[in-house]
Amino acid sequence: MTSQPPVSYETVTAPPVRRPPEMSAITEVEVSPLDPARFREALGDAFVHYEEGLAQASGLFDERAVWHVNSTARGGGVAELLQSLLAYARGAGVDARWIVIGGNPEFFEITKRIHNRLHGADGDGGELGDEAREIYERTLAASTEELVARVRPGDIVFLHDPQTAGMAAALRERGTIVVWRCHVGLDVPNDVARSAWDFLRPYVEPADAFVFSRRSFVWDGIDEDRTWLVAPSIDAFSPKNQELPDTAVRAILRTIGLGDGEEPTAAGRFTRVDGTPGRVDRAAELHQDGLIPTDATLITQVSRWDSLKDPIGVLRGFTSALADRPEAHLLLAGPSVAAVADDPEGAGVLADVIAERERLPAEERARVHLACLPMDDIQENAAMVNAIQRRSDIVVQKSFAEGFGLTVAEAMWKSRPVVASARGGIQDQITDRESGLLVQDPTDLEEFGAILAELVADPGMRERIGAAAHDRVRDEFLGSRHLLQYEQLLADLLELSEREA
Ligand code: UDP
Repeated sequence: MTSQPPVSYETVTAPPVRRPPEMSAITEVEVSPLDPARFREALGDAFVHYEEGLAQASGLFDERAVWHVNSTARGGGVAELLQSLLAYARGAGVDARWIVIGGNPEFFEITKRIHNRLHGADGDGGELGDEAREIYERTLAASTEELVARVRPGDIVFLHDPQTAGMAAALRERGTIVVWRCHVGLDVPNDVARSAWDFLRPYVEPADAFVFSRRSFVWDGIDEDRTWLVAPSIDAFSPKNQELPDTAVRAILRTIGLGDGEEPTAAGRFTRVDGTPGRVDRAAELHQDGLIPTDATLITQVSRWDSLKDPIGVLRGFTSALADRPEAHLLLAGPSVAAVADDPEGAGVLADVIAERERLPAEERARVHLACLPMDDIQENAAMVNAIQRRSDIVVQKSFAEGFGLTVAEAMWKSRPVVASARGGIQDQITDRESGLLVQDPTDLEEFGAILAELVADPGMRERIGAAAHDRVRDEFLGSRHLLQYEQLLADLLELSEREA
């Protein structure tokens, strides 16, 4: 999951934005409440625990608003996460608000630079010196002033990522409790990452708490007592993850142009975020010699067309390890590259993958399918991803780096056995050989291919691992866990601030 993404297809809904008065530096995003009782069925016995937590929450936050501040209302995993978490918090009676700060190209150039560096990459190679500080502080000043005027002492403010970090001191001075939530990090920090920490350190220092997604993302020298670990989560009920009957899965695969299922009795229906019916109507742009046979053992990777996701490695590993398994088919699916003009790498990577496929001998090529999913309707796209993941017998995520693999959690929730690289947050998601299979060295195609071959040959193993994967996501990576952890964090901070008062 990226927080300042190169593409903007992760948000399943474009939330309505309450129009600010002219010249406003901040914008409030309207969030309609969702009923937390929705989790009852998904959580089973654990729902009681969740319900108790929520009951405590509404008492805790009686007079307080809980503000979340980030820099985009759509696009990127953070916006997707906020959309769903805040809806459930509001449904539980918490006065949760979402504020989006404004900016200008030079500000976002600097925050993107910080973002890349937090990932250990040089990005545009620009400086993070005095001039960058001046632009960063000057741009944030207007948003900070407006937000300070809106909040009340005792309110709680979550500042997400580098873009909003510089607001902490003023909000703290206003008497709010400030949490800085960092969604970005890397397994083994390097000097490039440290230079971003040093830039941000004076801004985040006044916060009451720092939240990171995993232990290895925590900065050196940061106050341990104020540091919390909270992993991201997925929304089980969104078009991307909601239950789909087999008939809908078949219908959607057929509409996309991938499946050869019999004429479905039910059309490719899904439920939109607002509860209204949706239908998949569009076809994908496809590179294939024929449809995926109904009885094929389907191996899939769904990802942006990005070299870090190594689609060519997936293709090579598949063809060399499964040459003697004609029932095995491979599907590489990603967003239509025409739709993501802000991801310049996408078209090039896709062209390379197409060329690699073209070079295969006819028999092997017939078992490799490429699909570019239309992005015209983001919820329709999400329903396509949902159906593809549900049709797949094995889901792959062969990334060279990954903060938290949303696609991994999405497929695990659907009880698919996932084969994924032991990189970043994936290592927290999958317990190797229990709830998925980890590829220790993602550059080693033999290791990857051997795991695929093992799974293709063993339907029992696929079923066992898929079932454990679903349970793992239910216990660890749904919004319910995420909300309870935030509630616990806030309860502790409130207790602390009362003791200090
Ligand atoms: N995705 C999508 N449509 C596509 C391809 C991918 O909605 O055509 C989604 C995918 O389901 C997942 C997200 O994009 O929710 C990718 O998040 P992930 O953390 O896996 O990787 P990132 O793209 O953030 O590096």
